[in-house]
Amino acid sequence: MSKAEIGLIGLGVMGSNLALNIAEKGYPIAVYNRTSTRTGAFFENAGDLRGNIVPCASLEELVAQIKPPRPIILMVQAGKAVDEQIEGLRDLLAQGDIIIDAGNANFRDTMRRFAELEGSGLTFIGMGVSGGEEGARHGPSIMVGGKEDAYKRVESVLTAIAARYEGEPCCAWLGEGGAGHFVKTIHNGIEYADMQMIAEIYGILRDGFGMEAKEIGAIFARWNEGRLNSYLVEITAAVLEAADPVSGKPMVDMILDRAGQKGTGRWSAVEAQMMGVPATAIESAVAARSLSAEKELREAAASAYGGAAEPAGRAPDKAFIDDLELALFAGKIAAYAQGFAVMAEASSEFKWNLPMPAIARIWRAGCIIRSQFLGTLARSFEADTKAENLLLIGDFVEMMNEAQPSLRRVVSHAALGGLPAPALSAALGYFDAFRQARGTANLIQAQRDYFGAHGFERVDVEGEHHGPWGSGA
Ligand code: NAP
Repeated sequence: MSKAEIGLIGLGVMGSNLALNIAEKGYPIAVYNRTSTRTGAFFENAGDLRGNIVPCASLEELVAQIKPPRPIILMVQAGKAVDEQIEGLRDLLAQGDIIIDAGNANFRDTMRRFAELEGSGLTFIGMGVSGGEEGARHGPSIMVGGKEDAYKRVESVLTAIAARYEGEPCCAWLGEGGAGHFVKTIHNGIEYADMQMIAEIYGILRDGFGMEAKEIGAIFARWNEGRLNSYLVEITAAVLEAADPVSGKPMVDMILDRAGQKGTGRWSAVEAQMMGVPATAIESAVAARSLSAEKELREAAASAYGGAAEPAGRAPDKAFIDDLELALFAGKIAAYAQGFAVMAEASSEFKWNLPMPAIARIWRAGCIIRSQFLGTLARSFEADTKAENLLLIGDFVEMMNEAQPSLRRVVSHAALGGLPAPALSAALGYFDAFRQARGTANLIQAQRDYFGAHGFERVDVEGEHHGPWGSGA
């Protein structure tokens, strides 16, 4: 075989599937993995695609096998491993070669790496890839950050391997530096919120009405035919309907209620806080995962306080099921409004000029949060390019007006029954505070002035003022 057109380091779950995807699209690829047995096994299992794959035993061999200028994708564990691989490649690569970090990097690490490679003659790209194993193999959503001309040099391979939505590749250059990894981080934060709100609805049906997993699965399957049509609702239905081959019980009932997290959801909440943008639905989804990990503490608290009220002893009526559907939809709108608001702030802070309609478009297929909703969102952003918040765009005002009474009823139902719904409640709290023209921060300002002489603005006279609290305050 003539030389490879691209290289890839890291043949774990994502890397091996991405490499097969690239080879299948007709791009000869050289691959390397730190543990060489993995490289051998990968090549053995590559079947017909072996003709387009060059397994390499060292970084030197990998570099020698790629046609210059060499694009090399890193798909290794985020963090130290990425720095080590860049360090290892630095002396082997030549002017114009491109290192593409495709892992879930923290965008601040990505920005540091751009700075460290500045002047080296090497080009760096920070690229978010979403879609899990299946996406990597057959078409992920790809969020690219770096210099636009660097993207142009790898655009053909990236668009060839990306998912397609009505023929349009779900891959775009989003801005310089850490833009791609930042957008991927917010994607994951929204993913956390989507998943948590789905889980809360499941909890209301399971614990509030004593419904079986299969029955709840059927409801999600029906919702997937409507406005909630999305990958996450689809897989929720499939998961709830699956049986454990060992016990014969619903699979989901055999799974410990302790969720894992690898950090990207948390980063989105941290960045939102750092930028002063409320992202409460995302933050409570992250917090809910953390609390889920505290199984023993939760068991102790259940003994101290008791759990939720007894299940209703009857199936929920149609009106309440419809409320649950709309509540999930309203919560989703609020979570996306928050995620996009965080991206808007970051875009202005880091001068990325993030293209919001393009972000919504490349999330329509390939990624974990893909949904029908994102098509509406993309069209709305295209129609109203100046909108500062999704909740102020015409179509969404209409949808939220229709859905918010249901969110209110569902959150009240959960609160009265002692059923936890932290992300849905946070979404409602955000919505109510967002639409309150006269808020309560006048009292906060008075308190701040009382104990710290911080001053306040008056409603009638400009300038900074102090209250009549006196020196004893
Ligand atoms: P994985 O299956 O655990 O594989 C990790 C890979 O990193 C292996 O090839 C491993 O090599 C390599 N590696 C780890 N430490 C290394 C080091 N110090 N030096 C060199 N290589 C090292 O992970 P994965 O799920 O494919 O994830 C890879 C990246 O994609 C991560 O950043 C992850 O967050 C991101 N991502 C994952 C998903 C997903 O659904 N899994 C989705 C999107 C993005 P060895 O074989 O030698 O251990």
